[in-house]
Amino acid sequence: MPDIKLEDVTMIFPFAKVTGLFDRKQKQKILDEQKNMPYTSNEGVIALQHFSTVINDGEFVVILGPSGSGKSTLLRIIAGLERPTLGKICFDGEEYNGVRAEDRDVAMVFQNYSLYPNQTVYENIAFPLQVKHTPREEIDAEVKKICELLKLSDKLEKLPQDLSGGEKQRVAIARSLIKKPSVLLFDEPFSNLDVIMRARLRNELKALHEAYHTTFIYVTHDQYDALSLAERIIILKDGIKQMDDPVSDIYNYPVNRFCAQFVGFPPMNVYDDVCLKDGSFNLFGHEFKADRKQYKKLNKTRNISVGIRGSNVHIDDHGVEAIVEYVEPIEADLIIHAAIDDKKIVIVERMKKNYENKYLRGQKVFLNFDEDRFHLFDEDGERL
Ligand code: ADP
Ligand code: MG
Repeated sequence: MPDIKLEDVTMIFPFAKVTGLFDRKQKQKILDEQKNMPYTSNEGVIALQHFSTVINDGEFVVILGPSGSGKSTLLRIIAGLERPTLGKICFDGEEYNGVRAEDRDVAMVFQNYSLYPNQTVYENIAFPLQVKHTPREEIDAEVKKICELLKLSDKLEKLPQDLSGGEKQRVAIARSLIKKPSVLLFDEPFSNLDVIMRARLRNELKALHEAYHTTFIYVTHDQYDALSLAERIIILKDGIKQMDDPVSDIYNYPVNRFCAQFVGFPPMNVYDDVCLKDGSFNLFGHEFKADRKQYKKLNKTRNISVGIRGSNVHIDDHGVEAIVEYVEPIEADLIIHAAIDDKKIVIVERMKKNYENKYLRGQKVFLNFDEDRFHLFDEDGERL
């Protein structure tokens, strides 16, 4: 089974030709609008820029990024549905830029299931094997195995219209996996499902990955999907790779302000225009020492941004004074929204036993900070 290597892959979608019905002024307006789109070149929309990575055989990698960041484009390039404008994609060291999708050992699962409506669950799942003229007993055995893993065994005679969203997506996954592709690509497959169903399917997906040892590449804008599924996360923004690291590094050492606030719930508290001088900075009227072990570039006096996660802020008997604004109980946490003068801050406190609203609007509290967990970013938002 292959390692996949992307080398400096860039994808530019040419602008639509503006002809025909529009007069000159309208045409110019459309062209101007296209050029003013956030990440465009003179030739078109840049969906992916100088993207490089290696995905090893059998890995489970998640590509995480907001809508429009180039995730689907990247998957489509791996699947062979798009050919990169520049750069190279290799499977096991061999250049695959021009190899068609049918000739790659890759399958893809989409958000909208795309099942055959008039075929039963069994027929939908068995179809890829029937096409290959696999013997009947073998098909039966394979369908049985995968349906047990995906909890579909009692649904085999049903039609897609009689299934829930979660069941439909399970059928789609089973149908893709039964071919035993070496690479399985998922493009936001759980977007249409509710929170509980998503959580269940994530677990099943992990079990499938273990059972089949196939490379899984999973695209999502949802950090919960990413954090729960991945061994490694690649973060994309505006078609540019931001991070490509194990989950713990993504969380503990975000390389820039964007990653810091995109991963983690609630989003990290970040304060701009904080003066760094002699390795210390003043925040909320208090002097904090920057952690010299983590940061090398502390000598220059400069304006920085300082971040701290809600879980690294603690309510105590003394410390920085804050006023509670409102409180949200979410899962096992209390999310406390407060203000320190005109600065907002979010604090996360683990609920010990029962939910009890200890903090009321207008209440004064005192805050302490895990001082080695401050995140420092320069004027451009890059980690110091
Ligand atoms: P994501 O999946 O992260 O939402 P996409 O890969 O679909 O992002 O799109 C990335 C960028 O490329 C977007 O700006 C999108 O509008 C543009 N794009 C994608 N496909 C095409 C296409 N076929 N033609 C023109 N622009 C496209
Ligand atoms: Mg997409």
